[in-house]
Amino acid sequence: MEKWDVIVIGGGPAGSQAAWQCAARGLRTLVLEKERLPREKPCGGGVSLAAENLLPAPLPAQVAEVRCHLLRTVHQGWRRELSYPQPFLASVRRAALDAHLLDMAQRAGAEVRAARAAECLEPRPGRVRVRSTPHGEAGISFPLRNEPQDLVATAIVVADGVTGKVSRALRGRWRRQDLALCYTAEADWDGHHDDPYRRNGIEVHYAFVPMGYGWSFPKRDSIYVGLGAHLPAARGLDAAFARFVQLNGLCLSSPIRAALVPVGGPARNLVGDGWLLVGDAAGLADPFSGEGIRYAIGSGQMAGRVLADCLERGSLPTRTALAPYARLVRATWGPQLAMGRVMLTVLHRFPAALMEIYFRHDEPFRRTLDMLAGRGAYGSLLRWVLPRLPFLILARSVPTVREPSI
Ligand SMILES: Cc1cc2nc3c(=O)[nH]c(=O)nc-3n(C[C@H](O)[C@H](O)[C@H](O)COP(=O)(O)OP(=O)(O)OC[C@H]3O[C@@H](n4cnc5c(N)ncnc54)[C@H](O)[C@@H]3O)c2cc1C
Repeated sequence: MEKWDVIVIGGGPAGSQAAWQCAARGLRTLVLEKERLPREKPCGGGVSLAAENLLPAPLPAQVAEVRCHLLRTVHQGWRRELSYPQPFLASVRRAALDAHLLDMAQRAGAEVRAARAAECLEPRPGRVRVRSTPHGEAGISFPLRNEPQDLVATAIVVADGVTGKVSRALRGRWRRQDLALCYTAEADWDGHHDDPYRRNGIEVHYAFVPMGYGWSFPKRDSIYVGLGAHLPAARGLDAAFARFVQLNGLCLSSPIRAALVPVGGPARNLVGDGWLLVGDAAGLADPFSGEGIRYAIGSGQMAGRVLADCLERGSLPTRTALAPYARLVRATWGPQLAMGRVMLTVLHRFPAALMEIYFRHDEPFRRTLDMLAGRGAYGSLLRWVLPRLPFLILARSVPTVREPSI
């Protein structure tokens, strides 16, 4: 039976970054990815500056198609436009981003097997049995590779995303309130070229759905658009998405895809005997904005480092030995993700008041962009908002543009 130090299940940003860290520390590392590569994942493809700064080098120009420094927000006929002093977000296609991140792992020595779905048969510290089965069209490969194959690893990193079955078996099912649903598609540039906010910025539209928002992110040859909402409030989201596309004058050039985002906060059990959960599989996405790439990259790196430390010490990767990873995740992002959840609740309970505060002033939006740039957090945004609340509601510091059509 093939023996590996580490098997990583899933080749998205979380898996590739865990594999990169493990392989760079000299561990024999295998990544099993269910889909053929390169694979496109339904996603806005917005990589915040905070996420990019976690990488050893900026994303190359062929991956970061547009660097956005403009933000336009729209809510019930009100529009606010902001220019940020530096690009706060790189707009990418996921196939290109994920290939770039997987390449980092391969260059460090990890082996990647695509079109292989993994199943964890027996999680035990020091000896985790994994079955790898061909998935979809495996392409031309050595005949034996198309048979189910049993492998064994000292530990596994589970990076199989929000709907992964391996993480579900280890973590338990999500509750409805732990998920957001999104519809997304690609649209043509026709008629939007001259709009600088469409070309070099992102647009965020509130009011199409309660507890959610619509977005548009520019790519070199198209615009990615989407509409997402907290799952319990997502009834009629498909019709709302059609309205959103129509009112924005967009012409779709791809099929519409639906996908989930985990918004319930970090899973209770991030580690167990012989395994660690990372990225979406671990519930690591911002409940308010849906940003997940930052947490996938960051948690993958943290998990890889903690696992490598454990194996280098010669310790068995038990739940206790891997616990520093769970502590690190909670210490780094626990408060931020909890505050994101509070923001989602406030948006649900007091949508008008929150939008009133946001849309009458530049500062809350600027502070939100600071967060994407890695310079702030919801806590500091709220600490800024609360003492100024009476003033913010009464004052009209910057005139907002009234937009007749939406
Ligand atoms: C519509 C939408 C828009 C989004 N937009 C943004 C955005 O603009 N910016 C942002 O930061 N975040 C965004 N997100 C969130 C972001 O996409 C995720 O947080 C991120 O992809 C998580 O990375 P991951 O590596 O954990 O999981 P994934 O990227 O989902 O990767 C998991 C991988 O595991 C593989 N897999 C699953 N099961 C198995 C198995 N049994 N064996 C082997 N492989 C398996 C899958 O094929 C997949 O490749 C968006 C999400 C959605 C749904």
